[in-house]
Amino acid sequence: MSRANTILPPAMLGMLGGGQLGRFFVIAAHEMGYKVAVLDPDRNSPAGKIADVHLCAAYDDEAALRSMAEQCAAITTEFENVPAATLEFLAQHRTVRPAASAVAIAQNRVAEKNFFRDAGLPVAPYAVIQQAADIPGADSGLYPAILKVARFGYDGKGQARVANVEEARAAFEKFGAEICVLERMLKLDYEVSLVLARDADGQVAAFPVAENAHLNGILDVSIAPARGDETIREQARALAVEVAKKLNYVGVLGVEFFVSEGQLLVNEMAPRPHNSGHYTIDACVTNQFEQQVRALAGLPLGDARQHSPAVMVNLLGDIWKNGAEPAWDIAFAEPGLKMHLYGKHEARPGRKMGHFTVIGERAEAVLSEAMQVRDQLG
Ligand code: ADP
Ligand code: MG
Repeated sequence: MSRANTILPPAMLGMLGGGQLGRFFVIAAHEMGYKVAVLDPDRNSPAGKIADVHLCAAYDDEAALRSMAEQCAAITTEFENVPAATLEFLAQHRTVRPAASAVAIAQNRVAEKNFFRDAGLPVAPYAVIQQAADIPGADSGLYPAILKVARFGYDGKGQARVANVEEARAAFEKFGAEICVLERMLKLDYEVSLVLARDADGQVAAFPVAENAHLNGILDVSIAPARGDETIREQARALAVEVAKKLNYVGVLGVEFFVSEGQLLVNEMAPRPHNSGHYTIDACVTNQFEQQVRALAGLPLGDARQHSPAVMVNLLGDIWKNGAEPAWDIAFAEPGLKMHLYGKHEARPGRKMGHFTVIGERAEAVLSEAMQVRDQLG
């Protein structure tokens, strides 16, 4: 039986962006029998290197976009900063998932926060700062606060902790007077996230909630399933499903949450697979990248169940001390450890170079093994 509008192998799928998320998409698509064309301006991009076709061009290069539309049956993205105009252009010719309208909200913190608030979802108190003059007018109850640029921030970049109006002004100028969100600094109990896939019929497959620890604003460790209060996990699921529904979303969506003084608040969303969902590669029946392929191709979503407790640890460039490779033998000595290195040439501090996931029978043993390896790798 074949469903109408279903794209089957060996069709070519299109991926905007050539980073590690794109690379995992290529791997999943290849395993399922599809071909992939990747658009990324970097000749050495992790996904471009393993794709069937690498269009090495800018995201607004019309000739490259035409070529993508001609070669690919459907197109998706691995990062939120693709110009909305690019998605709109491609959507005139091909199926594009998620829609430009959803990506446009996710790529702008002001639009995103306003969307959550207008949808009645709980968020941290915030003010929109369009210009320096808006800073003294913002509620003084927001301080201590975090100033976040509205566009192009990631991994804690484009964020500054500010104690008062003067510091907020200085940070705003330092960010080049770009539009910002000024958000109350919360006392965090912990952070969680949820990745889900939603298909064109509105069916949702949600992965278990992950519990996330960050270091310097960058995800460090994800524990899945999240520990703690069951009601928090249920609420996170319900809120994420609501976000997807309200966006009429088709594709894979990651939603980040704060748990602050017992309250669950929506932090931000990503219109793509999420770093905290990497555990699904080794610990779930279907992983988040296969789910992305399925949603894009119009296939039924896969089973999102987790079969083993998992802990994922990010490997940042910092552990390449003086350019030397970390002691990988330590990691490979662990039988339940699954290594994923992204093939990036240059190890820079803060750059995501890879991750590993430890899976096993018992959640506590998995966590302690993962932490041991993490500490030994530096
Ligand atoms: P991004 O992930 O795009 O860099 P986030 O807004 O998710 O930006 O911020 C990164 C991390 O910084 C969060 O996961 C959290 O650890 C911390 N953080 C961000 N906003 C707040 C806040 N209002 N209160 C406390 N911690 C925060
Ligand atoms: Mg974040």
